Amino acid sequence: MYINISEFIQNENELIYKDSGTCDISGAFPDQDFSGSASFDVLISKVDNKELILDLDIDYTYTKPCDRCLKKVENTENTKYQAKLSNTEYKDDYDEIEDIDVVSLYQNEFDVCKLINDVIVVSIPMKTLCEESCAGLCPKCGKDLNKGECNCDTDVIDERFSVLKDFKIDEEV
Ligand SMILES: [Zn+2]
Ligand SMILES: [Zn+2]
Repeated sequence: MYINISEFIQNENELIYKDSGTCDISGAFPDQDFSGSASFDVLISKVDNKELILDLDIDYTYTKPCDRCLKKVENTENTKYQAKLSNTEYKDDYDEIEDIDVVSLYQNEFDVCKLINDVIVVSIPMKTLCEESCAGLCPKCGKDLNKGECNCDTDVIDERFSVLKDFKIDEEV
C-alpha cells in the first residue's frame, strides 16, 4: 500500500495527515514459518515547515512455531515507530547528526506496508513460546515432552536438535 502525500505537502494550511489501513506481514521473515497481518494508523506532521515527521501505530498478529516444541503459536503485539520523511521540498541540514530514522519519499510517496514489515522485523519479541513452561522436544527422539516423558538418555544430544539445545543455554543467562 502506497501513501502519496503530494497534496498534503502542497497545501500550506494542512499540518497533519492521517490515514490507516492493513498490511500482510507474512513476508517479514521469508525464510521462516511465519505469517501475519497488521493494522496501522499513520500520522504525518509538518514541523516548522521544514520537516515531515511520520508516526506509525501498528497492531499486528502473527503465527510462528514455538521455539521449544515447534507448535504454532499466535501472538498479538503493538509497536510504535517514528521517522523523518525525506523529501526534496523539505531540505534538511545535512550537518546535523540524525538521531531518528529517515524514510525516503519517491515522487511524494512511500510503501507503508514495506516499511511496516521492516519495523516488525526489529520490534518482534525475540522469544516465541506456546507457554512459559513449555517442556520442548526431546533433543534425542524429538518427542513433544509436553505430552509426556520419553525413555531417552538425554545426555546424548542429537545434532539435528542442537539449535534447540542452544535456545535452552540462552535462557539460563
Ligand atoms: Zn512449546
Ligand atoms: Zn526422547
